[in-house]
Amino acid sequence: MIDTHAHIDLHVFDDDRAEVLRRAQQEGVEAVIMPAISPAAFQKARRIVEEFPGVYRAVGIHPHAAQWAGMAELAAVEAEVVQPRVVAIGEIGLDYYYPDGAPPAVQQRLFREQLRIAKRCGLPVIIHNRNAHGDILRLLEEEQDGTLRGVLHCFSGDAEFLQRALALGFSISVTGNITYRGNPVVELLPLVPEERLMVETDAPYMAPHPHRGKRNEPAFVRFVAEKLAQLRGQTCAALEESTTRAARALFRLAIAALVCTFPLRSWAAADTSGHLYAKSIGLGLHGATNTIVELRRFTTGEDQTFSYEGLPAFGAHLFYEFHDYLSLELAYTYSRNTKVLKTPQRPWGQDRPDIYQILELGLHVSPNPYGRVNFYGTLGVAALLNRINERQENKGALISGIGLRLNLPTSFGMVMPWMEWRLNFALGRERREVYVSSTERRSADVGFWLSLPRVGLVWFPQW
Ligand SMILES: [Zn+2]
Ligand SMILES: [Zn+2]
Repeated sequence: MIDTHAHIDLHVFDDDRAEVLRRAQQEGVEAVIMPAISPAAFQKARRIVEEFPGVYRAVGIHPHAAQWAGMAELAAVEAEVVQPRVVAIGEIGLDYYYPDGAPPAVQQRLFREQLRIAKRCGLPVIIHNRNAHGDILRLLEEEQDGTLRGVLHCFSGDAEFLQRALALGFSISVTGNITYRGNPVVELLPLVPEERLMVETDAPYMAPHPHRGKRNEPAFVRFVAEKLAQLRGQTCAALEESTTRAARALFRLAIAALVCTFPLRSWAAADTSGHLYAKSIGLGLHGATNTIVELRRFTTGEDQTFSYEGLPAFGAHLFYEFHDYLSLELAYTYSRNTKVLKTPQRPWGQDRPDIYQILELGLHVSPNPYGRVNFYGTLGVAALLNRINERQENKGALISGIGLRLNLPTSFGMVMPWMEWRLNFALGRERREVYVSSTERRSADVGFWLSLPRVGLVWFPQW
């Protein structure tokens, strides 16, 4: 089971947090998602995550803290997402229950900004809703562009609200209040598809029957699961299995557990520009395969494309991120054809250069530079310094490529693994004799391009 919502950072757990989490584990709770109320509590939450491996975090500003939240707090939320095991933005939302709460307009602005942070960072949202059903749906509908995902926690509402939330792609999670007598929401629960349904405690609040009125804790999520299974006419085991699967999928827990094996630290948060992933000058290494593809135009007869077998290539590069969306790459790549090196008479299919050296200057354009994963396109120029039979042949080339890169902030700087498929088109053609079969050679105008799928790693030291 996964308790998808438990405030175990609150002071009521300060004396026995380890004991509480041990009890949860004994009850079969494999993970706990701990939402935030405000950035003031982030530091404590970081320490808890460091200490307890099964605890994951959501970061956000609760509507109860809306009065005190401004741009600085929103920036703090966005900067915090790079911390270990942060899996969601939350809890965020609207709470119109308390007459002395922040005005609805203030809450709505904060909610909308945090929905946008979630979309930018590719994280799901955990939504708190109390007496604000209409405005919650309106804002979600306005902000849903196909990338917004999340859960309505401590679900309440009628059948129409549920249908609209499901239609928006949202999941729901239920707390101990489904064990309370007279809660009308129980009738809707059999209607929720199993991949959209999760359980939570909302500890220390909402303790389920028979602990109602006492401090709630993650181990009690079992009572919620039992009641839910009963309402849906399922076995407890089946319900535990499906709610766990739904939570793992929404919060991508497997990936979060893996990524935290890197020593992630939010040094980027100190970047005064407010950018999540501070990058400037980076150093890198890459590996590739280099396949030369020739376009042969014969004086008589049809054109022919001929592709040589790929050669392993490797190189180094300098990376300079000089603008949010633009960066420059200066790369050197080397490969050699050991099969025919220093063989004057080239056999069929081997009349290509012996040694390739490629110098490239590329401009990367990234539409989403602050996601954990950036996509980019490359345009640029290159010098191809080829050697064939002791003879140097230099050519200019135009380069193009598409790739993706991953931003991993660490305590020793930003680490950026990337992969790209790059094509270098040599400028100009030359007349030469080429093999068209193992015995026949003919004269052709030959142009060529290089296909260079490559992978690399850039390190941006923390200057
Ligand atoms: Zn809540
Ligand atoms: Zn809560």
